[in-house]
Amino acid sequence: MYVDGEWTEAASSSSFEVRDPGDGCVIANVAAGEARDIEKAVEAARWAFRHGTWAGMPANDRAVYLHRLADLVDRDRAILAQLESLDVGKPLAQSTGGDIPNVSATLRYYADLSVHTRRREPIAVSGYEARSVRSPYGVCGFIFPWNFPLLLVGWGISPALAAGNCVVIKPAEDTPLTTLYFCKLAEEAGIPKGVINVVTGLGETAGAALAEHPGIRRLSFTGSPEIGRQVAESCGRNLVPVKLELGGKGAAVIFDDADVDAAARALAGAITLNTGQVCCTATRWVVAKKVMSRLVDVACEALSKVSIGHALDEGTSMGPVVSEKQRQRVLGYLERGEREGASVLLRGGPHRVEGHEGGYYVKPSLLTGAPENVCAREEIFGPVAYVMPFEDEAEAVELVNSSNYGLANSVWSGDLSRANRVAECLVAGNSWINAHNVFPHGVPYAGCNLSGMGGGVLGPETLLDYLRSQSIVRPF
Ligand code: NAD
Repeated sequence: MYVDGEWTEAASSSSFEVRDPGDGCVIANVAAGEARDIEKAVEAARWAFRHGTWAGMPANDRAVYLHRLADLVDRDRAILAQLESLDVGKPLAQSTGGDIPNVSATLRYYADLSVHTRRREPIAVSGYEARSVRSPYGVCGFIFPWNFPLLLVGWGISPALAAGNCVVIKPAEDTPLTTLYFCKLAEEAGIPKGVINVVTGLGETAGAALAEHPGIRRLSFTGSPEIGRQVAESCGRNLVPVKLELGGKGAAVIFDDADVDAAARALAGAITLNTGQVCCTATRWVVAKKVMSRLVDVACEALSKVSIGHALDEGTSMGPVVSEKQRQRVLGYLERGEREGASVLLRGGPHRVEGHEGGYYVKPSLLTGAPENVCAREEIFGPVAYVMPFEDEAEAVELVNSSNYGLANSVWSGDLSRANRVAECLVAGNSWINAHNVFPHGVPYAGCNLSGMGGGVLGPETLLDYLRSQSIVRPF
């Protein structure tokens, strides 16, 4: 773990194993932190915030540190990408070209934004001299999932750090390695001790202790709605504001005037990206009846060409899922879906990769059937999509909005006024047009309903989420 600028064992000296999902082998033993370690980390962050230089230094000086850190992430991109791929199972090209460069881009985006964010603004009211001042909160806690470990660390902590806060991170137990390496880079960048702390450990011990800690001033949780609820309850008891970025059951609506072949190939890509372990990806395909069979044919062809293999093997386009537990979850859903009456358009299920027999591989699946089916309603988090036909626009909107989730959907149509109209009718934090999984820095990414609350990430507002506002007033 990395606490107060020191590399330490857990207070209990215990550790847990981290495995390569591509062959099931143990690749690291990592300190199993718990409440005592969280206590130390929060205390270190609090000390750094109150007595260190970070919170009080000018925003442009902090930005220099964050740019230096971004440069180091770029310098060590190959190492970070290899670690991320080994830990999560995602193809090396995805880590190298996607996840890792995204981290440095996020650091730079918030570093630059913070330099141009006004900390003091006059308020024009008669009879008073008034202004508002924005200051960092103090210690911010972060709990992350395993699907995009370092990318989400970047999305989460960059605005908090740029605002002048100090952070305590609890990475997912399946994938803590790049977060630890990132601390090495933070050390090299000269970021003062106590500003970034990482406590590795299990969710029910280290994670719960962080969420329950009364010394944190904000908490950001990314993960499942079930755990999100527990975390929000803990924060509620301490009146700590919480940001929740939770699961999804994203839909893609494909109209008959869309470029159906291109949509089919893009959606096949969406469910195989990160082996379908993407919160916002298109797992419900709501398709105009007229083009459904064409869309399914092209998608099946694309999916059957997906090259499943170990993350580090050249030519792999889809790796394993992250753990045996996750593999059983995906297989369990496929079984339940069929038992509830879903028809199989493309049969997925277990997959064996030669030379990597211990890996957690599954093949992509396409199902169809009634919207009430469990596979149409619940987040599976694997390479699976559920296809549903529609007659008209109203039915398409109804099908999409029947979900309790509200993270992201997409609309595919050649008619941009229709696409824009429908995009606004879909109840979610994000609607994309003729694309799925789009995350430019500067565009807020958030969920509503079961998918989250608290403002989201990636937008300029996220920086303000980490600055508390204060009014200063003098009558005259
Ligand atoms: P999870 O909820 O099981 O775990 C997330 C984190 O919470 C892990 O670090 C875990 O150790 C910790 N945790 C577990 N129990 C805890 C407890 N009792 N108290 C505090 N922390 C605890 O989620 P997961 O399986 O790691 O990730 C998958 C989920 O994350 C999916 O639902 C996915 O949609 C969601 N997700 C959402 C976004 C988003 O931006 N909305 C992004 C990525 C993933």
